[in-house]
Amino acid sequence: MNIIHISAECYPVAKVGGLADVVGALPKYQSNTKNKAQVIMPFYDNKFTKQHKFTSIYNSELKLGENSYSFKVLVLEDNVLDFDIFFIDIPRLLFKDYVYSFNDTERFLAFQVATLDWLLTWDKYPDIIHCHDHHTGLIPFMLQESFKYETFRKIPNVLTIHNAQYQGWFSHDDVKLIPDFNFNHVGLLDWDGQINPLAAAIKCAWSVTTVSPSYMEELKFKANGLEHLLSAESAKCTGILNGIDWKVWNTETDTYIKKQYAINTIASGKKANKQYLCDTFNLDIDKPLFAFIGRLVGEKGSDLFPETFKNSLDKGDANILLLGSGNTIVEEELKKLKEPYAGIYNAFIGYDETLSHIIYAGADFLLMPSRVEPCGLNQMYSLRYGTIPIVRSIGGLKDTVIDIAKPDGFGICHENTEVSEINTAIDRAVKLYENKTKFNKIRKQIMGINHSWNASAKAYIKLYESIN
Ligand code: ADP
Repeated sequence: MNIIHISAECYPVAKVGGLADVVGALPKYQSNTKNKAQVIMPFYDNKFTKQHKFTSIYNSELKLGENSYSFKVLVLEDNVLDFDIFFIDIPRLLFKDYVYSFNDTERFLAFQVATLDWLLTWDKYPDIIHCHDHHTGLIPFMLQESFKYETFRKIPNVLTIHNAQYQGWFSHDDVKLIPDFNFNHVGLLDWDGQINPLAAAIKCAWSVTTVSPSYMEELKFKANGLEHLLSAESAKCTGILNGIDWKVWNTETDTYIKKQYAINTIASGKKANKQYLCDTFNLDIDKPLFAFIGRLVGEKGSDLFPETFKNSLDKGDANILLLGSGNTIVEEELKKLKEPYAGIYNAFIGYDETLSHIIYAGADFLLMPSRVEPCGLNQMYSLRYGTIPIVRSIGGLKDTVIDIAKPDGFGICHENTEVSEINTAIDRAVKLYENKTKFNKIRKQIMGINHSWNASAKAYIKLYESIN
């Protein structure tokens, strides 16, 4: 089977969040003697594209309503990835130093149209087109409805919802940007009076997946307005838990971390990484280190961090280290805590891939009090690095973390995203840290949990076969 993934992000080329990690890993695990998975993504102006050389393999022009844009398809000269990757270069729209901005309608519509225009020129069409999130959500509609893509009608396509909060809404005034289609079917594009690319994809894709089984169930009740649609389409919807890239996230080979380690050298390995963090961020090596890594947005519960952190830090028995960026008010509040809590608290406001790896390796506990968590990769990285996750039981967190109070439990879970519950969870973790025998046993236990992509990649292949 020839599988094409179409996505706005792909690690290590361009990453904003978990979508990049998934699209950068899944194709590796899907490619074998029987299947070949390839990726098509936009060409951005970023560190990766500056550091590599590209060759143009196709040149053309696309139309969006009245406007024409020239575009190229580029390939990497030295393909450093384990799969083929193609870049859609539309200099006027996509070649920016960011992935997302406030008004992306034309940018991602042009990306989708250019992708399909180029696929039309292929001698043999792909067996599966796999779209990711709303940025590629108009593809299932165009495959089914646009006159110029009529020859694609029989290509099975899949939509994976990584996050249903963002849907790519735009006004019906811009419907003219979409390549001509049977206007009697314009309703397929609409949800609640707007053009909604995610809703259109849920309606038109042959199969819809979410990145964890629990998230699929939760979306039927809370999906930023799409609840009824997801319930109505539930027959073609499944949840497939993400995996993690076992090669990138490997404590024995990770070149970002300060000391590599295995299960039997966990104590010295984690200590060396914690020491580095304590030295760099002025923290106390003798106290447990709680970390947060991620976007500072409401979905992650970050508005509660300032108060929660103060409560826990006032007790004096924990360090907290945060790596993230997002809401500027929250960023400011978190920066303000640095001075009064110097010695046990610090925050790095920004994005830093290297630091994230060192934190997964050096922290004792990872905080994830998310309000919404479609899958969550951080808890799986933290397990792999022997860092005990403290999670709110929702979405993928519910599917991957069992509370220590339960048989074979290894994490700390709380029911709600509330200050008092997060503080209680931290208190439970401090107690666990003091019980060194139990703490060390759990750290070794979690490093052995296998969340590699192997099982999930197979589940996707099975799904493709069922619609092929
Ligand atoms: P989401 O996609 O909702 O942001 P996920 O848990 O699925 O959350 O994935 C987040 C990914 O982004 C992880 O690989 C995490 O390590 C990474 N990440 C998030 N924020 C930062 C940051 N500030 N610096 C480095 N890595 C980050």
